[in-house]
Amino acid sequence: MKAELPAVTLPGGRQVPALGLGTWHMGEDGAPVADEVASLRAGLDLGMTVIDTAEMYADGGAEDVVGEAIAGRRDEVYLVSKVLPYNASRAGTVAACEASLKRLGTDHIDLYLLHWRGRHPLSETIEAFERLKVDGKIGAWGVSNFDESDMQELLAAAEPARPAANQVLYNLARRGIEYDLLRWSQVQGIPLMAYSPLDEGRLVGHPALEEIGRIHDASSAQVALAFLLTKAGVIAIPKSGSPERVRENFRAAKIRLSSEDLRLLDQAFPPPTRKRPLEMI
Ligand code: NDP
Repeated sequence: MKAELPAVTLPGGRQVPALGLGTWHMGEDGAPVADEVASLRAGLDLGMTVIDTAEMYADGGAEDVVGEAIAGRRDEVYLVSKVLPYNASRAGTVAACEASLKRLGTDHIDLYLLHWRGRHPLSETIEAFERLKVDGKIGAWGVSNFDESDMQELLAAAEPARPAANQVLYNLARRGIEYDLLRWSQVQGIPLMAYSPLDEGRLVGHPALEEIGRIHDASSAQVALAFLLTKAGVIAIPKSGSPERVRENFRAAKIRLSSEDLRLLDQAFPPPTRKRPLEMI
């Protein structure tokens, strides 16, 4: 792993960079696939080796794009994909994983997540995840869009197995998890993957971020990502279909936000003062 990026240690002891690559909307009809592949490769070149995808994205189209991007360089990548809740039965999870592997052009996914909670009992999904692990088709499993109470239920259902991560909506405009889930996860040693770290692009150009950016000769997007990089055990996965913007996002790791910067951010994006249900997209 390249030294320029801060790292997060996963429960199994493996270290991954705290800044990765999202893929939602890649591979959709009319998408510029060559640019998307080039963007993911540009990220890998810089050591942003966590690639997040899902069977849901473009109905498998995003996994096709990822497969193309990682061809010949699978060993560099920490590959994350997700099973849809409707598929997350005992047999359905295994079948979904196998279909994802085919699209991704690999024999294993490093981290396989339940995309959000659905009607299938957690115990069934966990059983399937454990089977996939034994068979070497996944390295670890986790969840997404789980609040603290869901996580507690999950830990009880999984014992003695444990999830390797929880992927949730987290950015400056959506700080609800700072009230409870963030700290809880840090204490439990379960990393959080912060999805939509730029609030789907809405944070770009925000005046408070621009102002702090001027101090650091940085863009608003870089400041938004730098904020997340101050949080222990958090992996941010911004998506960009432009190699140039991927390189811009990478440089967020060079920014050291001061306590005054953080105070200004709290002013513009107040942290939560009470429990809010977990937001999701
Ligand atoms: P992001 O917060 O990452 O924002 C992506 C948007 O910001 C895109 O429109 C992108 O445009 C733009 N952008 C990226 N970098 C820059 C930059 N430097 N300057 C200006 N614009 C920029 O949103 P996502 O919702 O995509 O979240 C990231 C990833 O998280 C997803 O791709 C997906 O992998 C995951 N996710 C998981 C969910 C879950 O339920 N588990 C839900 C939602 C997302 P462009 O491509 O043109 O650069």
